[in-house]
Amino acid sequence: MADNVVEKDTVIIGSGPGGYVAAIRAAELGQDVTIIEKSETVGGVCLNVGCVPSKALITAGHRLRETRDSSTYGISKTDATIDFTKTQQWKDEKIVARMTNGVNMLLKKHKVELIQGEAFLDNNTQLRIMATGPKQFMDNGGGQTIKFKNLIVATGSRPIEIKGFKFGKRIIDSTGGLNLTAIPKEFVVIGGGYVGTELAGAYADLGANVTILEGTGQIVPNFEKDMVDVVKKNLEKKGVKIITNAMAKKGEETDKDVNVTYEVDGKEQTIKADYCMVTVGRRPNTDDFGLEMTDVKMTDRGLIEVDKQGRTSVDNIWAIGDVVAGPALAHKAFFEAKTAAGAISGKNTENDYIGVPAVCFTDPELAAVGLTQAEAKEKGIETNVAKFPFAGNARAVSLDSPEGFVRLVAEKETGTLIGGQIVGPGASDLISELSLAINCQMNAEDVSLTIHPHPTLGEPIQEAADILMGFPTHI
Ligand code: FAD
Repeated sequence: MADNVVEKDTVIIGSGPGGYVAAIRAAELGQDVTIIEKSETVGGVCLNVGCVPSKALITAGHRLRETRDSSTYGISKTDATIDFTKTQQWKDEKIVARMTNGVNMLLKKHKVELIQGEAFLDNNTQLRIMATGPKQFMDNGGGQTIKFKNLIVATGSRPIEIKGFKFGKRIIDSTGGLNLTAIPKEFVVIGGGYVGTELAGAYADLGANVTILEGTGQIVPNFEKDMVDVVKKNLEKKGVKIITNAMAKKGEETDKDVNVTYEVDGKEQTIKADYCMVTVGRRPNTDDFGLEMTDVKMTDRGLIEVDKQGRTSVDNIWAIGDVVAGPALAHKAFFEAKTAAGAISGKNTENDYIGVPAVCFTDPELAAVGLTQAEAKEKGIETNVAKFPFAGNARAVSLDSPEGFVRLVAEKETGTLIGGQIVGPGASDLISELSLAINCQMNAEDVSLTIHPHPTLGEPIQEAADILMGFPTHI
């Protein structure tokens, strides 16, 4: 039997940070919006199995470690225990469900139609949906065909599986790592990127013996070595074993555990663990919903080619988030979502990636925006650089977190800030000040003359600006 055919204005595939934000913005700009989501809940990877639940586990780990280590402050709670079932319940019910329900409410408030189903493209103007949820449109046998004026592809990404490590019961991806029912005794993480290192830190805080096997010479390699060294030292203090230049060879599962074989310096070694989590990167979801039936051009890495507004090679099809080039981060998806929704609504929007911050929620946190000194040099830009340590900041010291520093990179000739790096307490929040400064093309003097409250973690940013001005105060 033929599908229903209905005509729609703006259709979005995927309700992750890209999809749901595009839906809200397009609705705010007067579009009739339909969003198609194949999962049971909205919010995509970020809210369900990414940014949000990972931060919840990191919080639980911090609380446990802080409680156990509180004797320094005269507090005796060194025998604190954890009921991990309750931790997971808290994460799922109080954090993830709350956030996904919030997105549902926002979509309703903006009168966005939400269809639970899997979309498959037929051509440049038409798609089919197979219902994956309640039978909203299944009267005619389970499908619906939609003719759309505009389409935004926001289908996100999925974990990469590597040879020799087929995902199963003991070899798991990040989703498995977030949903363990008990804290493992031995936990191996293959891939010390930001996802792997964050969860390695969380499980170490929760009491697991953690080993990170990283293929390159450094964990979280997208941050500078002197920043990562601060994190590495702290991870090692927590007992995490970090093995770099390690090639993971194979994982052999039994019912109870997994043997992980890896090679370093030509020698094979094996570790037995309760779980082996493989976090070596993510693959864009561009190969399984009929994109090849359209004239949308792809890059050789399987990403969708887009212009500055997020428009693909097909005039009425747009793409945002993890399916397009650039860092696979939720806030990049948010930004691209607003640009694409604006462009569809006739606004003169454009993506400008200069101020996209990168954050890793390690202990202490890592955050960076704009150019590093080395990147500036590669571009032929002469720079002045200033670094201020958290050890010289009263708030960091009173929080008992004096590790790390703030670094500012300014153009030598003009003093304009072009980059900033922070490793230390609150780095994930502090980096927004530097994003704003860089986006607004402020110089060191602008930051130096901005009064920062005392005692706060923001002061090192002002102090670093003072150094750039040639008038250091607390160093
Ligand atoms: P997604 O969030 O992947 O959403 C895509 C949606 O599309 C999914 O809901 C999927 O079900 C749906 N879909 C796919 N195909 C179809 C189809 N054919 N029909 C219907 N629906 C479909 N980023 C940060 O910025 N900060 C962090 O701290 C952070 N932490 C992370 C931690 C982990 C463990 C992981 C895995 C990721 C993390 N990320 C973080 C990355 C972030 O989650 C992603 O960059 C972000 O979710 C991408 O958003 P998106 O909208 O492009 O896609």
